Amino acid sequence: MSHSNQELAAASNEVFMGTYARYPAAMVSGQGCCLTDADGRQYLDFLSGISVCSLGHCHPEVTRTIQEQAARLVHVSNLYYTEPQTELAQLLVANSFADKVFLANSGAEVNEAAIKLARIAAGPGRYQIISLTGSFHGRTLATVAATGQPKFHQGFEPMPEGFIHAPFGDLSAIEALINETTCAILCEPVQGEGGVRPLPADYLLGLRALCDQHQLFLIMDEIQTGMGRTGTLFAHEQMGVTPDIMTLAKALGSGLPIGAMLATKEIAAAFTPGTHGSTFGGNPVAAAAAVTTLKIMLADGFLPQVKIQARYLEERLQELAGRFPRLLSGVRGLGLIQGLVLTEAGVAVGGAMVKRMFEKGCLINFAGNAVLRFLPPLIVSQEEIDQFADIMGQVLSEF
Ligand SMILES: *Cc1c(COP(=O)(O)O)cnc(C)c1O
Repeated sequence: MSHSNQELAAASNEVFMGTYARYPAAMVSGQGCCLTDADGRQYLDFLSGISVCSLGHCHPEVTRTIQEQAARLVHVSNLYYTEPQTELAQLLVANSFADKVFLANSGAEVNEAAIKLARIAAGPGRYQIISLTGSFHGRTLATVAATGQPKFHQGFEPMPEGFIHAPFGDLSAIEALINETTCAILCEPVQGEGGVRPLPADYLLGLRALCDQHQLFLIMDEIQTGMGRTGTLFAHEQMGVTPDIMTLAKALGSGLPIGAMLATKEIAAAFTPGTHGSTFGGNPVAAAAAVTTLKIMLADGFLPQVKIQARYLEERLQELAGRFPRLLSGVRGLGLIQGLVLTEAGVAVGGAMVKRMFEKGCLINFAGNAVLRFLPPLIVSQEEIDQFADIMGQVLSEF
């Protein structure tokens, strides 16, 4: 039974709730940086399932791992131990600031876990989390409350208590919000959904200092920026700031749903049996995929190569920004999360540009109503970057 894009889109719209505005393509297979749809059209994927398929689609070693683990053991309760999740946690601890790990199935879930851990570790009466305007932390009620963009709250009020937002980049404003109920500051090293906005290094240092001064936890949401995306395993490594709690998901399992919440042992000690849990968290198949993913990323030469490709992508983007000043005001990002910042005239046609890119066989998106966002697989080649930049140039010249 094979269906066309149009048939699949119509059938899907019939039975699904309307949470997604989808492009008219049903993807059927992927290889490296390339996706193929139901009509046999190919796409150059510069989104990677929004920073998920960082090793490219169907990386052969990850595929083999998934197949072998699926044939051995797919699920047991967290009442028992399994080797894949143990090995994953060992790898995460060995390669980060953290001593302890909690595994769940998605970004929002590990942010929920981080919020719960911060509250219980801080003690009674200290529950307030300060996050930043423009941030994105997930779609569950607590994580949407932490998200600093009103459009995600609308219609779902009242928001759960204990979340406030500080204006991006303003240290004195955030200090003014700290009171005896505050337990943590939560931030992304580079705001992804908010429009590829890196936090300035001195601002991050300032947040760390405020946390130390007021005995707050610094929680870093590295769900989009972690797992090699910026050229180091975690983005904060190149920003001179270490968090107390960190969350990972997206690329962790190369597309299998898994998230990890990491913390120092002093903070993690607040989670005792019964305080938190997850049925599927650390599922053997997802955990095995994550172990293979991490091993590939930690192998010699992988992360340095990400930095090389990132520099090349940035160069090509700067060239475009120089060529189209009416539409583009600049380039921003870190490593292989990059954005072309749109001028007012550019923002007005941002959605249309993404659509034209799609029609020309290249997948990107429009983030934060401000930038064209690029998240190619970390294994992207220079030729693929050139191919993308050429198409991007053609599309920009149409507007
Ligand atoms: C995607 C994302 C989330 C939410 O992850 P889900 O797996 O969709 O729940 C949270 N924080 C950041 C920074 C993200 O990019």
